[in-house]
Amino acid sequence: MGEEGAYARFCATVDAAAAVAGLSDPSLLVRIKRPERVHEVSIPLVRDDGRHEMLTGYRVQHSSARGPYKGGIRYHPNVSLDEVKALAGWMSIKTAVVNIPMGGGKGGITVDPHVLSPRELESLTRAYTERIWRAIGPLVDIPAPDVNTDSRIMDWLADEYGRQSGLADPAVVTGKTVEHGGSLGRDKATARGGFDVLEAALNAAHEDLRGKRVAIQGFGNAGANAALLLQEAGAIIVAASDSTASLVASEGLPVDDLIAYKSRGSHFCDWTTFERKRADSPLFEQVDILVPAALEGQITAENAERVTARWIVELANGPTTPDADDVLARRGVHLLPDILANAGGVVVSYFEWVQDLHSERWLLEEVEARLAVVMRRAYDAVTTLAADKGVSMRLAAYAVALQRIATAIGEAEVAPRRSVSTMIL
Ligand code: GLU
Repeated sequence: MGEEGAYARFCATVDAAAAVAGLSDPSLLVRIKRPERVHEVSIPLVRDDGRHEMLTGYRVQHSSARGPYKGGIRYHPNVSLDEVKALAGWMSIKTAVVNIPMGGGKGGITVDPHVLSPRELESLTRAYTERIWRAIGPLVDIPAPDVNTDSRIMDWLADEYGRQSGLADPAVVTGKTVEHGGSLGRDKATARGGFDVLEAALNAAHEDLRGKRVAIQGFGNAGANAALLLQEAGAIIVAASDSTASLVASEGLPVDDLIAYKSRGSHFCDWTTFERKRADSPLFEQVDILVPAALEGQITAENAERVTARWIVELANGPTTPDADDVLARRGVHLLPDILANAGGVVVSYFEWVQDLHSERWLLEEVEARLAVVMRRAYDAVTTLAADKGVSMRLAAYAVALQRIATAIGEAEVAPRRSVSTMIL
């Protein structure tokens, strides 16, 4: 198959996994793949110098079969409807793999947020919220952070939703600051969930993290926190990149310094004391573990032969194309797929939503322990199916999810879901 757009790749993987899941009804498959609703909005922005700009934003509501739409909002110059549709579909699959009672959605604005002042960023977020607030809500669709968006932006979104709707409810968005109803542990949750899955997989292979060499592509929330957790566990971070360059040091990079450097808004291309390479170089470094934590479509049929890592932990969404999957599988690479490995973020988002709905606050230890339980259950379900059917972890994870979504659609036809449910842990 071709490697045209991200949404086509999402559909291709669903089709391949449908056979594994034993789903043969073509109309059901169409229903699972197609987004239920697509919103495209024009967002007026007045720049600090007085210029008026009109930006484009999206919210794709992919599936509500298993619960309210759930998924992040990204700010990036490459955001397109095709990309947001794929990301929304991946969210529906992801929430089903980890078995939280939520569906899938995604939003985005086509913009480079790095050129915006804090005032412009807030104004953009509020204008986008003004355009979409009727479509979202605590029991309908719950946004969260994604690429280039953070807890401060989620606070603005929640505040603007309250102003527009007259219903100030922190449960309308997750990934907020703790002061505004965010959950402890949400900031590190994506990395921690991936770490839990990697540890389980290494244990099963009788391997240990200590001394393992790691390359990380992307140093946003997921990549930076993964670097910290892996380093704490004794791994050596030999390469890390942001969108401008990668830093490489075979004796190991000082992760804390890199995080402090990035938090000042600096770019790796300006760092002078380490060897600097192209931003995609972590993919091809001589390492044991590769953590793609940037954007989709990075490991392709063209470059997959150059990936030497034996383990890949996908913290980004969709970093590997289906054709590249085939190359990596042939070479015996252990690939922990995005919809499982990066699901920790949405799991703790779900915990945040439950806490907000119930006016509760959970301790950090409680959040982490519950996250570990959910990730472990998902890992076990996926590895069991992968072994039973003799398929990759990715196909097994999709198959687990497709079965759950198909069951929910079937049940809804008999008796519509009456209330939003929360799970028992
Ligand atoms: N943006 C994250 C993801 O892709 C988190 C979504 C959420 O917390 O709802 O999984």
